[in-house]
Amino acid sequence: MHGPDRTIDVVLKWRRSTDVGAVLMPQPEPPVVGRRECVPTMCVVHPERVVEHEYLGLLEEELQEEIDEWEEARLAEDDADAYSSAPPASYATYEEYEEAMAAAGAAEPEEINYMSDLSIAPGWKVGGFASWHLTDPAPVDCEVCDSAMPPLLTVDMWECDGASRSWLPVEDRDASDDPRVIDPTGVYLGRGLMRVHTCPAYPVHPHRLSFL
Ligand SMILES: [Zn+2]
Repeated sequence: MHGPDRTIDVVLKWRRSTDVGAVLMPQPEPPVVGRRECVPTMCVVHPERVVEHEYLGLLEEELQEEIDEWEEARLAEDDADAYSSAPPASYATYEEYEEAMAAAGAAEPEEINYMSDLSIAPGWKVGGFASWHLTDPAPVDCEVCDSAMPPLLTVDMWECDGASRSWLPVEDRDASDDPRVIDPTGVYLGRGLMRVHTCPAYPVHPHRLSFL
């Protein structure tokens, strides 16, 4: 649906959880939808609470440097481990060589990175922080009272990014190539991600959208 400026028309409704009654069956559908990728595929939500941390570029410079140093130290440690446990250079058979390589690969610790593994989870979420990895951080402030507006809801095309699977639920790890796991909702807004920001001071102040 088009809102002002031909953007997506987002309507927020605030309700007390105690006022929410039985779920309607069948679920009502919007009478008009401009684009089918605005309508989620029927799926079930299994919410999981995770801890996020502010986008790297928005942290104090000193803390950013500490994180860089920590990541570099971890990489150096991993390299040292790989070197000290390096298998001998020759094997009796190719099978032995393959086995040794597989064992070394399995023992290798996963590379951990603040940006993709520790700070901001991909996928649909309520609350948390906004990632600005495709654009520079842009302030989203309330038009009425100037408060910085955190994201209330993030609508994402992907539930995990290709490079990092650390946010994938354990039960989905073996099916991480399955489109129903990676993209269960089929919703595609903006260039793949839309955030709804609300005013932390007064929820009735108009919300704002940001896209990535
Ligand atoms: Zn406000």
